[in-house]
Amino acid sequence: MTGFSSRLRERLQQRRDNHLYRQRLDLGSAQGPEVTVMGRRLLNFCSNDYLGLAAHPALSEALSTAARRYGVGSGASHLVCGHSELHDELERRLASLTGRPRALLFSSGYAANLGVLTTLLERGDEVIQDRLNHASLLDGGMFSGARLRRFTHNDPAALAERLATATSTGERLVVVDGVFSMDGDRAPLGEYAALCREHGAWMMVDDAHGLGVTGPGGAGSVAAAGLDVDDVPVLMATLGKALGTSGAFVAGTEDLIEALIQGARNYIYTTATPPALAAATLAALDLLDTESWRHDHLQALIARFVTGALAHDLPLMPSDTAIQPLLVGGADRALALSKTLQDKGFLVGAIRPPTVPAGTARLRITLTAAHTEAQIDALVEALAKAWAEQEATGV
Ligand SMILES: *Cc1c(COP(=O)(O)O)cnc(C)c1O
Repeated sequence: MTGFSSRLRERLQQRRDNHLYRQRLDLGSAQGPEVTVMGRRLLNFCSNDYLGLAAHPALSEALSTAARRYGVGSGASHLVCGHSELHDELERRLASLTGRPRALLFSSGYAANLGVLTTLLERGDEVIQDRLNHASLLDGGMFSGARLRRFTHNDPAALAERLATATSTGERLVVVDGVFSMDGDRAPLGEYAALCREHGAWMMVDDAHGLGVTGPGGAGSVAAAGLDVDDVPVLMATLGKALGTSGAFVAGTEDLIEALIQGARNYIYTTATPPALAAATLAALDLLDTESWRHDHLQALIARFVTGALAHDLPLMPSDTAIQPLLVGGADRALALSKTLQDKGFLVGAIRPPTVPAGTARLRITLTAAHTEAQIDALVEALAKAWAEQEATGV
């Protein structure tokens, strides 16, 4: 056996031993409140399809209509000949939604975060990040060559301390999630913006879980906090969550967007996403405008879930968003709970290290506008029962 073979085998065995081995589900249905997994229908509480748009007929229709005219593949990168008028229209709509001069599409949120951080930052700069920021932000910061500094989660005093003690003479960028993906809580953006202004730092917000679900008209966390492009010069959000499609964008000034077009390697050296996908996202933005009941229904379901779970003394983490994690602790316990729930017909993801810090494994429960009140009630009952059983047996 070569060194690589044994290295891989050991690594995989170690993951199994630590209850950290991950497996994929093969869905046999569209995304929705009910999904088919290996022929079984399960109630789904783990997607990021917050508004229930991923399988909406208006999106499928827009996608297939556009595919008939523009084909499937974009055929090239944006800078060669893959940039279509649909991409352009979508960029203008996203800029307008977020109240920024321009927006630029990326093929994924991961690519967008790497692209913007590696383009903006240089060696000698500082990138200051919340400890619980999404992996793509931490990776982008690391790859940028800037000095990476982290601060305690959602703690303006900790950020103030970092800003007061510069370790370099370069530029400084403060980066946070708008809504934290594994915790569901919101960043205190207003306080951060004031600190950044005071210390002459720029601020970047990743609003993957805020866009479409918070703020006026679904404009996101930054708009909800009343912050403009001067307060938050770099705004990034994804299209594969509340908007129900795929891809991501960065919004900001003319100069920021042009600098990304000219310099972001994740933008330049990759094939443009299908134009028809842009048409589907445009259809999702139309629904955001015309079907505000989705937002209202989701808020009502969140309140119903929290009330129900607290009535059963379930260890909910503090969150008022569609991400409602239940703190379990050990990875083995989280996994066992998730398995029990799945046997009872509920799909709830166990989130384990390294996605979350050691000792904070959790069930990450997500609610969507496509769920019904009865489904939420059934989930609360199932969780309470599974939790009580685990407490009783100690496993
Ligand atoms: C999902 C997510 C991303 C990555 O977006 P993709 O389009 O899935 O690559 C980035 N940041 C946060 C906070 C996310 O939740």
